[in-house]
Amino acid sequence: MSGGDRPGHREAPPAPDRLPLPVVDDHCHLGLGRGDAPAPDVADVLAQAAAVGVDRVVQIGCELPSARETVRLVNAHPRVLGGVALHPNEAPAHVADGTFDAAFAEIEELAAHPRVRVVGETGLDYYRTGPDGVAAQHESFRRHIDLAKRTGLALQIHDRDAHDDVLRILTEEGAPDRTVLHCFSGDMAMARECVARGYTMSFSGTVTFKNSRALRDALSVVPLELLQVETDAPYLTPSPHRGADNAPYLVPLTVRAMAEVLNVAVPTLCAALSENGERLYGPW
Ligand SMILES: [Zn+2]
Repeated sequence: MSGGDRPGHREAPPAPDRLPLPVVDDHCHLGLGRGDAPAPDVADVLAQAAAVGVDRVVQIGCELPSARETVRLVNAHPRVLGGVALHPNEAPAHVADGTFDAAFAEIEELAAHPRVRVVGETGLDYYRTGPDGVAAQHESFRRHIDLAKRTGLALQIHDRDAHDDVLRILTEEGAPDRTVLHCFSGDMAMARECVARGYTMSFSGTVTFKNSRALRDALSVVPLELLQVETDAPYLTPSPHRGADNAPYLVPLTVRAMAEVLNVAVPTLCAALSENGERLYGPW
């Protein structure tokens, strides 16, 4: 949940051309409407996505209600695998009212489900949470890293304006084998550091925005085997549809933009993204 774009209920964008080979939406929030908009029907969302070559998704539940819903969704939909955690912007409130340990215990229980393959999104957010919440975020991040290592699940990280501390805490704790920076927002130097550490970087619709030159430069130094593509739906709708609700069926717009930056053929990128998804989270 990066929430940088403007709410508004524009017309649903038309479906993009189908991808030549299927890919995974690495991170989305199914069953979540924006603002007061009703949540779209999940079966429809998945069918619409599959029709354009997005045939598997990773559903992320990062508050207790959506984490519980995530387990229901992975049971109901073979195209869906899940991730659960307490979002960095949720952790301070849980620490403040003394409910963190109980909430974390429930996340750990939900993470034991066989189709939950991710601890995430956890991480740090210095954009939405002020200095008072930083210590709670750090503690929560460390606990989630430990959970991912104890369970052997992949770790998905939300990092907003906190690159240095994210890297420092991963060094101090020791990162899990499968570590993914969700909605990567770093520059070329950060990308190179993540490549050196073997972290996967998942790019969202933000890479298609006109003013995302630095992000495209960062993408250009990432090898295919460390890439993923995502929506973070319903947020971060790719150009030219900013302001409309995002959904997995719009992933092809981001894939094609990535292929252009990387100067690779779309089928080559799709094959790599699919293989990476299976390696990180599979089988579906
Ligand atoms: Zn998210």
